[in-house]
Amino acid sequence: GVSLAAHQNPSDQDVEMTLRPRKLSEFVGQARVREQLELVLHGALKRGDQPDHVLFSGPPGLGKTSLSMIIATELGTSIRVTSGPALERPGDLAAMLSNLSEGDVLFIDEIHRIARPAEEMLYLAMEDYRVDIVVGKGPGATSIPLELAPFTLVGATTRSGALTGPLRDRFGFTAHMEFYAPEELELVVRRSAGILGVDLRDDGAVEIAGRSRGTPRIANRLLRRVRDFAEVRADGAVTREVARAALEVYDVDELGLDRLDRAVLSALINSFRGGPVGISTLAVAVGEEATTVEEVCEPYLVRAGLLARTPRGRVATAAAWHHLGLVPPEHAPG
Ligand code: ATP
Repeated sequence: GVSLAAHQNPSDQDVEMTLRPRKLSEFVGQARVREQLELVLHGALKRGDQPDHVLFSGPPGLGKTSLSMIIATELGTSIRVTSGPALERPGDLAAMLSNLSEGDVLFIDEIHRIARPAEEMLYLAMEDYRVDIVVGKGPGATSIPLELAPFTLVGATTRSGALTGPLRDRFGFTAHMEFYAPEELELVVRRSAGILGVDLRDDGAVEIAGRSRGTPRIANRLLRRVRDFAEVRADGAVTREVARAALEVYDVDELGLDRLDRAVLSALINSFRGGPVGISTLAVAVGEEATTVEEVCEPYLVRAGLLARTPRGRVATAAAWHHLGLVPPEHAPG
């Protein structure tokens, strides 16, 4: 039979789905991006045109996938989801593209990781809603043009700098997603608490929002972890004290830094005297992939004023030394 427990304990991933904002009006923050996007979409709708292709860039967890789904909802069409690494051969992409219905949204996550032949196929598809399928090999090979239904491509990337020029140029609208302000994250966790039925108090919401690294996905994750703590070790209410105690258990500090963030700062300061040091050297020192350090840790450490990028490498700021309880040297940037 079906286990009841399985129904009562949806996995974190399922919970993430239920917490996804469905409409532009439910999407908290990113006011500029939202306004711009609204104009792009409604302008096209008004003219009866297919909206321009859209590129979202920014660190993970800021709502790129959610916004893409919202675009399809706003347009009243369906969305197909794939990712750069999944499009290894042009045939994979051709299959995706030829299955689109008129007006559909095609979402390609991690679009900077698309293989070159598939990327080249994408150029023509984005420009003319057409692909050329090559049949046969060598001198006898012919290419057969295939008409596609008009569609809107939405690409997401954590590294817009890694996109080739020709691909970037084919997006009519590029939005850079920013870290969220604590007040915005407060709205995110309040909304999520409402959906999940968590007794979240005002000071608890402030505490969680302040430790979420400017990232809604992290805010939602911390809310779930704090709820566990509140239910097991307290009376279920999420107050500031409960949130603080819970986040201590999960190694999230007052600035929202996690273990890896702190490891990076600590290596930078203790092993390289505050830098400058290259990102790959730093990554080796903490035993992580350079891309993770660069795309996940670094953007927030920079935003929090703990790390500075200089032409000679990464440098710990005075605030970073203070955060680790150390006295910064004279040369540390402020
Ligand atoms: P990735 O780049 O890793 O795919 P992402 O930027 O696409 O991440 P999403 O998957 O869209 O991020 O968002 C992660 C979760 O954060 C969502 O499930 C949703 O619950 C929440 N979230 C993101 N943005 C918002 C927002 N603006 N308002 C409310 N909740 C949000």
